[in-house]
Amino acid sequence: IGTRMYQGRVEKSHHIVVLADQGQGHINPMLQFSKRLASKGIKITVATTLSNAKSMKATLSYSMITFESIYDDCSQGGVLGPGGFKGFLDRFQASGSTNLTRFILDHEHPVKCLVYDANIPWASKISTQLGIAGAAFFTQSCATAATYYPMYCEVYEKTPLSMLSFPVVTRLPKLRFPDLPSRTGRYPPIIIHILGQFDNFGKADWVLFNSFDKLEEEVGTPYLIFQWMKKVWNVVTIGPTLPSFYLDKRVENDNEYGFNIHKPNYSNCMEWLDSKKTGSVVYVSFGSAANLCAEQITELADALRQSNIMFLWVVKPDEQSKLPSDFSKETSGKGLVVTWCSQIEVLAHHAIGCFISHCGWNSTLEAISFGVPILAMPQILDQIINAHFLEKVWSVGLIAKANEDEKGVTASEEIYRCIREVLEGERGEEIRKNITSLKELAKEAIDTSGSSDKHIDDFISQLDPAYL
Ligand code: UDP
Repeated sequence: IGTRMYQGRVEKSHHIVVLADQGQGHINPMLQFSKRLASKGIKITVATTLSNAKSMKATLSYSMITFESIYDDCSQGGVLGPGGFKGFLDRFQASGSTNLTRFILDHEHPVKCLVYDANIPWASKISTQLGIAGAAFFTQSCATAATYYPMYCEVYEKTPLSMLSFPVVTRLPKLRFPDLPSRTGRYPPIIIHILGQFDNFGKADWVLFNSFDKLEEEVGTPYLIFQWMKKVWNVVTIGPTLPSFYLDKRVENDNEYGFNIHKPNYSNCMEWLDSKKTGSVVYVSFGSAANLCAEQITELADALRQSNIMFLWVVKPDEQSKLPSDFSKETSGKGLVVTWCSQIEVLAHHAIGCFISHCGWNSTLEAISFGVPILAMPQILDQIINAHFLEKVWSVGLIAKANEDEKGVTASEEIYRCIREVLEGERGEEIRKNITSLKELAKEAIDTSGSSDKHIDDFISQLDPAYL
């Protein structure tokens, strides 16, 4: 472990610590990125919370990657412990930073670089204090960062980008005010946490984005802001971060499709999908964090019932009681409701013809990478921006409009109309054509010598020019 052949000599490989945030949507891309680095001969330690580290150790096995707990979220109550989300962040910072520092200082295999989720801004202080390289990893799109950044400048009274302040962005044709993350005001600690990603932006040696250049180039003004960011900071795209099977180049021991925090509830629905015709099934999932209200679940259930199509629906355990009582009986044979699935495996399946999604960035990129048309029902934060680009810029999805009231529920008639349009309408045809082209571009970006692959090689060779 930790050695490599270089110019005929066996050498110790570099050691990079990857500090991942606790959520599924953060762990997944950072784990896949770790696998990518490991496939290039780098020793990786993924540092995360105790519950995640335990479950990764139990389910994953790579010779070049180890998992380390730096914060005991089990005994300290996780995000639901004392003080809610803010309390969790404070405890995570206090003991996480002490434990991570000790881990890096004491490790027999010197750590060359700390790659940290940009959501954990205190991590950059550690790399600076220890004199190692630091790379902030954004699990959102470049366009989202470009949209939030002017907001950060306004909220924290930093010098705004010249001529590109927040109000200017909102007036531009490709991104209008309703498309901005307006519903985030509901829970200020989250928006403050998100804007906090930029606190240490300038101190990182690299800022890595799980996206690819050709996708971002099309988004108009946010891309211009992003170009500006690239001039100021060492910002690169390294995505989409997907398992190696996607490129038909399995890395050693890459025996799983995606990591599932929800493994105990993981359902194997692949056999069910195997018996279905190509493009005939609608996959419905709102990611790991969204908790749909009972009204929205009822509207979705009605739309699926009405449309009489095959569906696979992820209804998380705490949402199950909101399903109409007769739903499973009435739709048996037509649909399957599961509490969790391996989404990547599902999206890669030929039977899936449409993905009803909340448009979290991972789900968005995964759908694009597997060429699955999206029916967007964004809930909060960057999901609203992602949905906007999916429909208006890349033309690979449709937005099912939400009612314009406080609850923002989307009615069954609207969902039903959009399902029909995506599966059978002219617009659906166009969407399938466009998403197939984007899928090719995604593959090109991460394949050998593609833009993202080159950026990863640049990142490694800047750590040590003699390495690659
Ligand atoms: N996911 C999964 N199984 C499910 C639902 C989601 O494996 O049943 C994965 C999905 O592939 C994605 C992640 O969970 O990688 C969700 O991330 P995303 O950014 O889409 O949404 P979030 O959970 O952060 O809101």
